Amino acid sequence: MRKVRIERGRENLGDVLVATKSMDIGQVVLKEEPVLVASRDPTKSTLRKPKRSQISTSDDPLTAEVEMFYFMHLEAFARANRDVQRKVLDTFFCPTVDVFSKDAELKRAYSVLRSRGERVASFVKRFNAEACRGLTLKELEKVSLIYDLNAHRLGNSDVLFEYASKITHSCAPNTRYDPRTGSVVALKPIKKGDLITSNYLDTNLFPTRYRRELLCKTKLFWCKCRRCEQGVDLPRAMPCVNCVKRGEDGLFDLSVALEDVPVSYVTRRGILESNKWRCSNCRKSFDSNPLAPIDKIKDPERHLEILALDMTCNMKQHHKDAGDFFVYTLRLLGARHWIPRQVQQALLRVGMNENMDSKKREAVHDGLDQLWNWVEKHTDGDARYELRDLVILFLRRLSSKTYDRRGDELLKLWEKRVEIENSFRTETYLSRKSYVRWPLKIDLPVPKNLKLGEVFVSRPFEGLELKMRLLEPCHKDGDTFRVKIPKSAVDESKIESIENAYRDWEERGGEIVD
Ligand SMILES: [Zn+2]
Ligand SMILES: [Zn+2]
Repeated sequence: MRKVRIERGRENLGDVLVATKSMDIGQVVLKEEPVLVASRDPTKSTLRKPKRSQISTSDDPLTAEVEMFYFMHLEAFARANRDVQRKVLDTFFCPTVDVFSKDAELKRAYSVLRSRGERVASFVKRFNAEACRGLTLKELEKVSLIYDLNAHRLGNSDVLFEYASKITHSCAPNTRYDPRTGSVVALKPIKKGDLITSNYLDTNLFPTRYRRELLCKTKLFWCKCRRCEQGVDLPRAMPCVNCVKRGEDGLFDLSVALEDVPVSYVTRRGILESNKWRCSNCRKSFDSNPLAPIDKIKDPERHLEILALDMTCNMKQHHKDAGDFFVYTLRLLGARHWIPRQVQQALLRVGMNENMDSKKREAVHDGLDQLWNWVEKHTDGDARYELRDLVILFLRRLSSKTYDRRGDELLKLWEKRVEIENSFRTETYLSRKSYVRWPLKIDLPVPKNLKLGEVFVSRPFEGLELKMRLLEPCHKDGDTFRVKIPKSAVDESKIESIENAYRDWEERGGEIVD
């Protein structure tokens, strides 16, 4: 029996998958045969093989590549039997433009996908006319959009799944799809009746704004998941300039950046585009981005974002300065911010494309050892997973180019580590906890009608019970007073759970003393 069922037309979500039984972390939720498989490798095409330049008129190599994939999707569809074709056309999600009539950005994203699909569809119909006989242009265009919105990567193919293609997106998902095996694995305990969710994006590290923009452009919806709506944007957390001293060069010490010492973080609060920042330790609020302007750049975070993304796309151009740029962003933003990590990944990719002599290779190996120590100490969940994948790819490329014994040993070690990690990977990047400084400071409301000298009990969050006596008269309803709770007042065995509850409470918007 399947552990999931399809529920049709849930409000705002359309068709969804729902668990039919409870599942534990690490359990396979779903594994199924694809309905349709389209290889990404054009040499696998059994029909006439076009040159890339025949399909695409674009000068941009990325666009040309995407259009080649589009071609392969449609070609696989044209080759499929009639039953499969009907199933694809009738049962997969495919919106029409009128759905987006009220949202200009979604409408624009829709027409970009649509027009690319139209272009490739009409090419396929001309180019492989024989195979496309009996299929209308409209049908091919629809299939192109269906592929855009429903396909999963499986090995070097793009595939459509009857069940897995109906999984709802969440930036804090309860399952993960594994593109190497095609199985969907539980990341959190799942109860019967729970909605099955997974992350449509390759990464979990982007900040809210980018995740939403990407999903709008590629999947045609605005994400309203818990993580997008809660307003605390953890991938943009930076060391607090009020709590942590910066050097004369305006940068944090490397020990701060790498969290070798306790670090307090500032995160953005409030829903979506509001711009309130607050430190979870000193409670200082910042009305705008707390990163001090550098060299007269008005919004340095945004500026670095653009540089980091540009670097990922144009590695050759940047590769000489990549190492320096990484350390710079790390010392400016700290290791939790997504930009240094973006740069770090670009850095590894740069290394992959280089022909290295033995001395340089030694340096890379040392660097990887250091990186490993850092990864081990400061990351978990998806962040760790992504970095390790990349390092393994890097080492594989390296040892395929040259015989390299130490590289091979390192490769085995990293692979072993990933294997262990995957088997009990429980927490996601989101769950990384920040540092809590005692005494805890809390603003509590005074209960109504309380008389002087009277004792009352307050439970601001789970695990903490405070008994207090009113010593001053209250002025009005809704008055609050401040309590400071020293660490010594709390049972030592409860400290960890209280710290966790305190942070959760604070993230939900608990009242905090300034
Ligand atoms: Zn989201
Ligand atoms: Zn602070």
